[in-house]
Amino acid sequence: MTYQGVLRKMETEFSNPIQYYLVFENDFINMNQLLDKSIDIQFVKHQCLSCGLDKPIYRQGFCKSCFFDIPQAADWIMRPELSTAHLDKEDRDLEYEKKVQLQPHIVYLANSSNVKVGVTRKSQVPTRWIDQGAHEAIEIVEVPNRYLAGITEVALKDHVGDKTNWRTMLKNDIKDENLVEWRERLKSYIPEEAKNYFIESNTETNIEFPVHKYPKKPKSLNIEKVQSYQGTLVGVKGQYLIFEDDTVFNIRANEGLVVAISVF
Ligand SMILES: [Zn+2]
Repeated sequence: MTYQGVLRKMETEFSNPIQYYLVFENDFINMNQLLDKSIDIQFVKHQCLSCGLDKPIYRQGFCKSCFFDIPQAADWIMRPELSTAHLDKEDRDLEYEKKVQLQPHIVYLANSSNVKVGVTRKSQVPTRWIDQGAHEAIEIVEVPNRYLAGITEVALKDHVGDKTNWRTMLKNDIKDENLVEWRERLKSYIPEEAKNYFIESNTETNIEFPVHKYPKKPKSLNIEKVQSYQGTLVGVKGQYLIFEDDTVFNIRANEGLVVAISVF
């Protein structure tokens, strides 16, 4: 069976363990069903997620000209504190920015390789945590717009990490942390504007990933360079496929590539 399509981050379903779906235009693959099967991945071409052209992918699945033009790739996406829609101020497209920024956002703690702070739209909980490969996470504040979430994250970054170590996350070299205690410790550093939005009572969310074998020395697959790869799938964590030979393939980092996937 061969499937072909442009890579976008896998869709997920919060169950025990997480269900992963690779969604193509006319097909979808439940990756959990491919565990312990041999699969073949072939690079076909590029397809920018915005203009659809076969141009090299620059970042986030977009070609260079789209990346510097479309509202979906503006700086406030990665740096929420730069959001300005709450001031009625346009960056690239005010209508789009209002739609995305002026909705409930969550500042959270997630533990994937270490405890880190992050921001997401409320509608993306717990998807965002699953995408990061966090085995546990908790919400800190729920604010009405992206700007408030951004300035809260910036303030908390001085006291807790904000990056995931992907190798540690994939090796499952993790420890359990008491995120309720972490939250309490960080509470006093929440900026004045966001203090009233602290979520008073809260519990950890625990996430189980479908992994049969964790890699000892994960090595990242560059499918554009090698053109094709074949291996036995032994797990999925975050947005990574994990193979028997310690190869890992980051679907999210390869958005915008068209691939053909064959299952044996
Ligand atoms: Zn483009």
